[in-house]
Amino acid sequence: MTTRTGWTRVVVAVDGPAGSGKSSVSRAAARALDYEFLDTGAAYRALAWLALERGIDLDDAAAVVALLDDFDDFDETTDPDDTRVSVAGTDVTAAIRDPRVSAVVSSVARVPEVRVRLNERFRARLDAPGKAGIVAEGRDITTVVAPDAPVRVLLTADERVRLARRAGELDGQSAEDVARQVTERDRRDSQVVDFLTAAEGVTTLDSTSLTFPETVEALVALVAAEARQPR
Ligand code: C5P
Repeated sequence: MTTRTGWTRVVVAVDGPAGSGKSSVSRAAARALDYEFLDTGAAYRALAWLALERGIDLDDAAAVVALLDDFDDFDETTDPDDTRVSVAGTDVTAAIRDPRVSAVVSSVARVPEVRVRLNERFRARLDAPGKAGIVAEGRDITTVVAPDAPVRVLLTADERVRLARRAGELDGQSAEDVARQVTERDRRDSQVVDFLTAAEGVTTLDSTSLTFPETVEALVALVAAEARQPR
């Protein structure tokens, strides 16, 4: 089957800043729709984890690019109920969420060759055989990875709300530290891709005054509305 846009299945592209809830909202929407779920940030995080493991200087772009050759054995499952990330047979699902990784991941993500190579993988994954659809979330899914996806959404929330949500995931750090890190990561990331304004044709879903279930419902409704469009 080929969809209207050339993808072999329904691709739902979701972008947004840190703390917008894009990961948990996308995962829950995938579950509700019986779709797969792809967290693209996990690949950037896994590469950053590998760089830290190998003691690579993260400001050395050539060394980071060289690391991609060892990244073929990176794997990420797309079951929204069981997302596991592994590199060279090591399960790094929890390790890639470590604040040490969050602090350096932007340095890996800003290397153009890294983005090109990871985007190729993401596109192959989106188009792979599997469930009828896949929800992919990140920073540039609506604009670079799948600008022709039938459903494209920018998930936003006021900064105050995003920081408050992230403060709920303290992981042993102070709320101030988390706020500083999130703001700094967004600042660095937004120098590379614009995920703060919706590109043409991208629907903005502002979750500032929505509950989590309301936000998921709104995303699912956007997918359902697209499915009703005449082919
Ligand atoms: O989504 P998450 O916060 O886990 O992403 C981790 C990092 O991966 C981001 O801060 C960003 O540097 C990078 N990223 C990216 N493009 C994407 C997804 C994530 O640059 N599509």
